[in-house]
Amino acid sequence: MKHLAPMSPEAEAAYRTLLHHTTDCGRCKGNKHCPQVVVLSRKWKEARRR
Ligand SMILES: [Zn+2]
Repeated sequence: MKHLAPMSPEAEAAYRTLLHHTTDCGRCKGNKHCPQVVVLSRKWKEARRR
């Protein structure tokens, strides 16, 4: 099992932005491809690596 490191404040902020987007965005709610969510999740992954 992988140990989950605590998220940095930066990663947490990015995660919250991503969550907000998916609850607000009609495309995401309709399970359609959304270019913005790709960008946001990439930012979150990058922030987690730091
Ligand atoms: Zn979206």
